[in-house]
Amino acid sequence: MGKAGSERYAAWGKYRDRVVHPVILKPADLDRARANLERHAWARGVLEDMRAQVAHTLGQGPDHVERMIPATTPGGVGFTNCPACEGNTIHGAYRWDPKDPERLVCTTCGLVYPNEKYPEDVEFRADRHGCGQVITYHGGYSFDFRGFHLRSSWTAQIRARKVSHMASQAHTLATVYALTGERRYAEKAREILLRFAEVYPNYLVHSSYGEWIDLPPHVAAERINDLPEDEWTIPPNRPDRRLHSGYWNSGRATGSGMEGTFIRGVAAAYDLIHDVLTDDEREKIARDLLIEGTVLLLADPALNNKSVTNLTATGLVGMVVGDPGLVRAGAKGFWHFVKNWFLFDGATSESPGYGLMTLNGMWAFGEALHGYSDPKGYRRKDRMQEFDLYADGSYRSVFRAFYDTLFPSLKYPASADSYVTTGLGAQYAELMVVRYNLPEYRALLKEVLSGPAEETGGEYALFHRDPDFAVQPGDRVALSDAFFPALRMGYLRTGEDGRGGTVILDASHWGGHHHRDSLNLTLFQHGHEVLTDLGYLWDRPDKDMTVRTPAHNLVVVDEAEQRTRERGGSLHLFDATPHVKVADCSSAAYEQASLYRRMCVWVDHGVEGAYLVDIFGVIGGKTHDYLFHGPIPGFTAEGIDLSLAEGSAPYGIRNAQSGASADPWRLTWRMDEQVRFTAWALPGEEEVIVGDGWGERGWGHFNTPDKKVAIPYVIRRRVGQSESVFLSVFEVHHGEPLVTGLRWLSVSGEAVALEVQTRIGTDALIGALDSKRRKVQTSGGVLETDGTLTVASSGFLYLAGGKQARFGGRKVELCAGRLGGEVLGIVNGNDDSYLVAEGLAPHGLADLIGRTVLVEDGSSVTGYPVRGVGLSGDEVRLYTKRNGRGYNVGGGTGWSMIISGYAS
Ligand SMILES: [Zn+2]
Ligand SMILES: [Zn+2]
Repeated sequence: MGKAGSERYAAWGKYRDRVVHPVILKPADLDRARANLERHAWARGVLEDMRAQVAHTLGQGPDHVERMIPATTPGGVGFTNCPACEGNTIHGAYRWDPKDPERLVCTTCGLVYPNEKYPEDVEFRADRHGCGQVITYHGGYSFDFRGFHLRSSWTAQIRARKVSHMASQAHTLATVYALTGERRYAEKAREILLRFAEVYPNYLVHSSYGEWIDLPPHVAAERINDLPEDEWTIPPNRPDRRLHSGYWNSGRATGSGMEGTFIRGVAAAYDLIHDVLTDDEREKIARDLLIEGTVLLLADPALNNKSVTNLTATGLVGMVVGDPGLVRAGAKGFWHFVKNWFLFDGATSESPGYGLMTLNGMWAFGEALHGYSDPKGYRRKDRMQEFDLYADGSYRSVFRAFYDTLFPSLKYPASADSYVTTGLGAQYAELMVVRYNLPEYRALLKEVLSGPAEETGGEYALFHRDPDFAVQPGDRVALSDAFFPALRMGYLRTGEDGRGGTVILDASHWGGHHHRDSLNLTLFQHGHEVLTDLGYLWDRPDKDMTVRTPAHNLVVVDEAEQRTRERGGSLHLFDATPHVKVADCSSAAYEQASLYRRMCVWVDHGVEGAYLVDIFGVIGGKTHDYLFHGPIPGFTAEGIDLSLAEGSAPYGIRNAQSGASADPWRLTWRMDEQVRFTAWALPGEEEVIVGDGWGERGWGHFNTPDKKVAIPYVIRRRVGQSESVFLSVFEVHHGEPLVTGLRWLSVSGEAVALEVQTRIGTDALIGALDSKRRKVQTSGGVLETDGTLTVASSGFLYLAGGKQARFGGRKVELCAGRLGGEVLGIVNGNDDSYLVAEGLAPHGLADLIGRTVLVEDGSSVTGYPVRGVGLSGDEVRLYTKRNGRGYNVGGGTGWSMIISGYAS
């Protein structure tokens, strides 16, 4: 055992005999599981599945465990290219079967490794601290990964596969034992844990880049970035006394930077078979495997989406060995991620995919900490007694945001480094039901399970679902219009329960995982994502093709990439009424653009259909390319003649055609038998370029084969005009389209006006940067308004940001178009949060509920839904969170509110 491990071990012992096992699962969870087993076929199915998963291991002779848990340190699962086919470049992708554990099969070309054509002829021998372990690599082929040579070791990957398989086998075996009391399952788990305890202390610290440190693991762990001597690295890489990516890809039983996934499996197994182990066995496993395992985990000072797994695994070890200090190290990490890594609105600064990855590293520890009590005899002030984790408002917001950011398909938009396939798994829906029991979560569970909720369940349900659980008749998944104040993305919804369609306007500030995509627009309707974000290509060499600005739906200025610093993102208007929904945002994505602003207005005529008006204004720069890409190849064009373009097209577009039209034109895509997507353009002085561009999407993990696809890129190019306003209308229609034509209306000052001809009448829309009084002649008469947004139709008149609008016989009058003042104070609480607003009269406050309050912090403006209002003396409070629903206030000095009104 290493020095740090010894110290930890010496400090350990005081409470080791006072742990009540099981402590990760609680005795009540086992009782609940037994009740579920008695009453529900699905529960018995879960147990049978677990038995089946471990049947092979259980049936093997005594040398099996030794073969599956080698004394030689495992490598990692990534960074193992297949030199024969180079499929899935950088990582390779292989099938591995625990019943045939000595081979890997390339999923692309089918070649079996190890393979004599590709011998592992480069050898590293750990003669000093590694007891002569030999690690081998194939010396012939290498891949230059940003200057670092990757070579493959299939044998090292095979060891990694075996060891991770056996850790999870131990956990499953122990779980079957805990449920059934059948001793042979515990015996096999014991054998596995004892074997791990024997070999683990000699597992060397290494990285999946093929670097190995032949030093005592505690020295290597603590000095991973500043080694006292050279590490061994595969030639031609040269040792530099640090691991290439520090802790990020380090490990001992693993090589992925997430040693905690291994540790938490064996810790949970130990907890469940504790009663069958002798005292000596308990000590050996606790000391040489569990506490030894925390050495590397605790050495990493960073807090990121990988180290979260490691810190929380440390906490689990603390629980099972009875070390409250380790429990606190885990808890400190856990709360850091809940309160600082996740944004104050519960969303993630990285992406839905990475948010889930972080949650994957956290939730099991959260479950264990919920209801946790420190061992008897621990009397310090911070003693935990049946700790109530789920009462915490910040953690509740994390799950809320995962719910609120879903598409109607219950998948996530593929923004930043997320995948098209990313969704909220049944296990999380189950946890949300168990811990929060909201009707919408029950309905969500019903939808994500593959069968009726009362007849279907997984392992989490077995232990946690109330045996009497039933989805209630009124439970529905309803998705709301929402602007996320920290993430700064606006979600507009349409249709019954908000499930008909979703528009997302992205004004999020640049974060390391984001794309260069400020003001990107996403549209999902009638089951189809039609304005898409391509998603994430993982470590693929061509991933920049989906990160780059022209991979998004926005205006590209001067053919340049958006900047990644100081791009900001502000909200100007967010409002959601039955017929008109609007999100209006701007950013500083281009240094040369003094205005970069997009207003999206969804005009909803209910059963007749809905269309999205997109107004994009840019000032500054020389070339403005309004760009979007079609969802699939092939479209029909009407109102414009496109012909083969001469010369080269921008953004790598091939087969470019070009054209121009003074009149509105449209392109239509056939999405399925019934559904069509039509994109209308109301042109200015511009050239249209359409061609085939990069369309591959982020489909999943690196072992998903490349899907090279080209999709139509549509560009409306304006050159030499420093100011541009692009006007477009998007409609996804099922049957007859609602929109039949468009035309500009003449309007004065800093405003745009257009008329939308529909199957059922004519609508007029005026968007303005100021609240000057304007009269606009429409085909249905004069529309008079001082609003920043006015929408007039035969059925209704909508006004925002002004005092009066008139059209036909209708009139909307508001006492103010805009309210505002200073923010006098901010109070954030677990259940309620509010800002104290200067400049508000106490009467008429109730009318503010449901509106969005804009809060300015000097450089940018964000928005919060007003969930309540209150008076305390002279103090007017605008609640942004009430009874746990809503958000904390992130800070700000001034507030304002655009008032809207409506006449039908
Ligand atoms: Zn291959
Ligand atoms: Zn993107």
